[in-house]
Amino acid sequence: MKNYLIISTGGTISCTNSVKGLLPTISAEQILRLCNTDSSEYDITVLSQTDSTDIDTDLLNKLVQLTGSSVDKYKGILILHGTDTLEATASLLSAYFDHCDIPVAITGSMLPAESQNSDAPINVRTAVSLLKSGLNGVYVVIGGKVIKGSKAVKVFTDRVCAFYSADETYISLASPQKCEHTPLTQQGFVPDFKKGLEPRIFLLRFSPVMGLDIFDYIEQMDYRGCIISGYGAGGVPIRFYDKIKTLSEKGIIFAMTSQC
Ligand code: ASP
Repeated sequence: MKNYLIISTGGTISCTNSVKGLLPTISAEQILRLCNTDSSEYDITVLSQTDSTDIDTDLLNKLVQLTGSSVDKYKGILILHGTDTLEATASLLSAYFDHCDIPVAITGSMLPAESQNSDAPINVRTAVSLLKSGLNGVYVVIGGKVIKGSKAVKVFTDRVCAFYSADETYISLASPQKCEHTPLTQQGFVPDFKKGLEPRIFLLRFSPVMGLDIFDYIEQMDYRGCIISGYGAGGVPIRFYDKIKTLSEKGIIFAMTSQC
């Protein structure tokens, strides 16, 4: 067994041009070669060759379980991923693995590794440095930035520096310092990666014209939980209060996040 694990899921980084457009086809070994990175230190697992737009509950469960069963075996894990849903995967993995002793780096690229001027080499090489930096927890490495996995947000689709950190905190690998951050485990919640994800969660973002019927839909469609992105720091319009109270009394769990 090698010291480090690479889990490849697909994404633009592994794409080549075909008559059907860009398709994820090249192997992680080829990606490392194109990025001038020695693959001899890595065990490589191909979980899928998927455009991250098509990542679903099943694939996320597999990724969580593979990562969970590997954190005690390796000194670091590198995940190659498409950029479009990278922030969702990074948040999820942060919830499970931020407390682990090893670094989990997630990277991809806006241009295929094999195309000229691709951002893949800088992203992969920075991610590899992160694996050896002594940091632990989950990080997104992309566009010259290292961002806490729970904070990375994709904000551009037309440039290689496509991500920013929601709290504007970036990690320097020259003097790596853990950011102020309390893993969920220290808040008394130990997520069990073997349990699998609950897919019946509704994501609700308010708009001023939204009516009460959205809550009837959530109930009728048997959603188990609802994450509300409230206005500002978490504002909820008064017209929704009673409905939310009724549904939570019926057992639907509501969680709030801010608009930002
Ligand atoms: N659609 C691609 C994906 O998310 C975009 C990318 O990787 O940049 O897999």
